[in-house]
Amino acid sequence: MPSSTSVRPPIAADAPTVGDAPTVGVLALQGAFREHRLAFERLGLNVREVRLPRHLEGLVGLAIPGGESTTMAKLMRTYGLDDAIRAFHAGGGGLLGTCAGAIALSREIVGHPDQPRLGLLDVAVARNDYGRQVASFETEIAVVGLDQPVHGVFIRAPRLVRVGDAVTTLAVYDGDPVAVAEANVVATVFHPELSGDDRFHALVLARWGVAAPIGAPT
Ligand code: GLN
Repeated sequence: MPSSTSVRPPIAADAPTVGDAPTVGVLALQGAFREHRLAFERLGLNVREVRLPRHLEGLVGLAIPGGESTTMAKLMRTYGLDDAIRAFHAGGGGLLGTCAGAIALSREIVGHPDQPRLGLLDVAVARNDYGRQVASFETEIAVVGLDQPVHGVFIRAPRLVRVGDAVTTLAVYDGDPVAVAEANVVATVFHPELSGDDRFHALVLARWGVAAPIGAPT
């Protein structure tokens, strides 16, 4: 997993809390959670790393990062975070899943019916479906609600092969949806957190009903 290309200075893990700004969580079991943390911190949010069910208390939303979806699923189950995240969602908590995080949120994983998943987003995903030759690539992605495209980093990305009627497509690449939302559940198959551009995270906060205290760059 490459590190963030942001040129802004990193914020220490023990950064002080930002007044009474809301707190968002990043699932920190495995994968690229640090970049989500930095994006939300740059937007002025308090950020908590979530490793146990009790860490979800009081959060307005949770980001599930990229990584390895089978490993993440096993760890979620081991720590009881699968049921805890379902309860968090049922209680109105927002969710963001990027890449492996989108796989975790999905209802169906093509060819892997036994892979555990949260089933909170009515999509079917095909893992690693952008081809072996060009498993990783970067491209500009136009996103509904943003004036300028975002830089999309695709790393062994899953393909969204079906989206349900209640799911809104926020971005399309090569004829397939690559960013979608169902109420306050947002998923991308690319990695907005690796671009150093926080506008996508600000859009997610709006979906969660949270205003970014600092605001995103335009
Ligand atoms: N291909 C990975 C998986 O299926 C996801 C890759 C990623 O998150 N960048 O778990």
